[in-house]
Amino acid sequence: MQSLYIHVPFCASICGYCDFCAMPVPERLHSEYVDLVLRELELRANDVFDTVYLGGGSPSVLNAANLRKLLAGLQKSGLKEFSMEWNPEQVSEEKMDIALEFGIDRFSLGIQSLNDNLLKMLGRKHTAKTALEAFEKLNSAFGTGSCDLMFCLPNQSTENFLSDVKTMASLGAKHISFYGLTLEKGKKFPPQPEDLYPEMYLKAVQILSEAKLDRYEVSNFALSGHESKHNQVYWKRGAYLGIGPSAHSYLNGIRSYVEGKYVPWKKWVMSGCLQSGLTEDIPSTEGKEMEAVWLSLRTREGLSLKDYEREFGKEFEFKKAEPFIEKKWLELSNDHLKLNGEGWLWLDKIFLYSLP
Ligand code: SF4
Repeated sequence: MQSLYIHVPFCASICGYCDFCAMPVPERLHSEYVDLVLRELELRANDVFDTVYLGGGSPSVLNAANLRKLLAGLQKSGLKEFSMEWNPEQVSEEKMDIALEFGIDRFSLGIQSLNDNLLKMLGRKHTAKTALEAFEKLNSAFGTGSCDLMFCLPNQSTENFLSDVKTMASLGAKHISFYGLTLEKGKKFPPQPEDLYPEMYLKAVQILSEAKLDRYEVSNFALSGHESKHNQVYWKRGAYLGIGPSAHSYLNGIRSYVEGKYVPWKKWVMSGCLQSGLTEDIPSTEGKEMEAVWLSLRTREGLSLKDYEREFGKEFEFKKAEPFIEKKWLELSNDHLKLNGEGWLWLDKIFLYSLP
């Protein structure tokens, strides 16, 4: 069983902080893209999928006809989860009806902030009001899904971020993801309130925990049973096929992708999706060990020391974890090494020190 990720690389406009593969191209190119994606899928998919995730970019920027054509070409039965990302200003009854008709059962809504000044500063095209209306519609249509928020934004106060978290929890969000903004060099924004990062993160976790939205990954919180099955495949190093420009695949322990953005990908699909045209990242044993530790520690379950030993044929060097256990940043419970307390804030530091 595999999972499928489809990257829709188009956005109506580009947000000032964006670091994804996203292009504001005219709508006439969308139809060509859908044909290419379906062609790539036909040439590369040789398994049934457990989960499908339509991400981007902005899948919801596709018009109704293109969305219908894309969804009609995808697997329709046997899925355990079928998710689609939405931008608030692109949510419409017509597109939701199409999504429901073709089996989408989970939404991911990019709210980012409920403060109009911050949204404007980020270059987002929606307002807080649009975001809340979109959430209400998606939540009642799909029943489950995620709201994405951002924190540590320039000019953002702790109170402001916590108010966003409280609002979404009180409106019945079953899954919330929040990410600290990372700005690439050269992006022109006022300074971020980096000293507030720990306070914002820890207080938001507390609010969500009181609302029974439990942390199951560093940035992801859900009511029991509403965790994202697709994203857990990434953290558990499960197999997935990535379709579309810049999409990465992870198959048989090897990561692969087509170098470049839309045009190189288009040429590659038109010439038959040859394996030789993929850039492969074959990890060393050490690289695999690092990935296993890094990804496992991000999750609520943590790193199973038995699984580590089974996979790599040696014991995890536990003495490297001891200083962090003493600090109470890590804990050992039932053979699992897990983040604890403020350790959830400092995974990078723990990881650097405890490299296998
Ligand atoms: S909507 Fe998302 S992918 Fe598109 S430009 Fe904004 S941040 Fe980038």
